[in-house]
Amino acid sequence: MRIMTIEDEGALRELIEYDLTKAGFQCLGLENANDALMAVEDWLPDLILLDLMLPGLQGLQFLEIIRKTHRTPVIVISARNSENDIIAALDRGADDYVTKPFTFNFLEAKIRAVTRRGQAGPATVVEAGGIRLDLTSHKVKVENQQLSLTQKEFELLSLFMRSPGQVFSRNQLLNAVWGYDNELISRTVDAHVATLRKKLAGRGRFIQTLPKIGYAWEVD
Ligand code: CA
Repeated sequence: MRIMTIEDEGALRELIEYDLTKAGFQCLGLENANDALMAVEDWLPDLILLDLMLPGLQGLQFLEIIRKTHRTPVIVISARNSENDIIAALDRGADDYVTKPFTFNFLEAKIRAVTRRGQAGPATVVEAGGIRLDLTSHKVKVENQQLSLTQKEFELLSLFMRSPGQVFSRNQLLNAVWGYDNELISRTVDAHVATLRKKLAGRGRFIQTLPKIGYAWEVD
C-alpha cells in the first residue's frame, strides 16, 4: 500500500515515513501541497496523510481540489484541534482527523480503519481485454503490470471501459473528463487519446477512432 505524507515539518515527516516504511508501507513524503497535486496523479497513492498548515497551497484547499477527481482516502494530521477545524476538514472530504501530537500506534490504527472502510465498499474494478482498472485506488494493470497514467488518461480509460461499445464525441469526452465544452480544444482529447493508446501498447487498438464522430471502446 502506498501512503503519501504531506507535511512541511521535516523531522515529523521523516519520522512518519520511517515508521510507515518499517510497518511495510511504500512512502512518499512531500513538504508542500503544490507538489503533492502533481504527485497524486503520477504516484497514485492509496492513502494521503495531510497536514493543514502548509507553505503555499493550504491543506484544506488541497483537499477541495483533489476531491473533485479523486476518492483516495485522506487522513488530516494537524495541530489544530478545535471542533470547527475538524468539522471543516471532514466536510471537505477528509476521511479522518488526527491531532498532533500523536503516537505512531494511534496513526497506524487510523490508517487500518480508513483502509478497511474503503474495502467494504462496492466492487469498483472493471476488467476487459487483459486490462484491470481499479476505480478506488486509481490503478491500472495490464497483464498484472502496473501502468502509469496521468489523471486525465485514467479518467478517459475508465469512461471507455465502463461503457464498452458506446460512441463518444470529442465534446462529450471533453465535458466528461475536462468539465467544459469548447470545440476549439477538441484536439486536447485527441492528444490524450494518443498518449493513452501508446501506453496501452497493443491494447491501444481497443480505443477505436470513428472519423468525424469521436471514439469508442471495443475489446476484440
Ligand atoms: Ca505545518
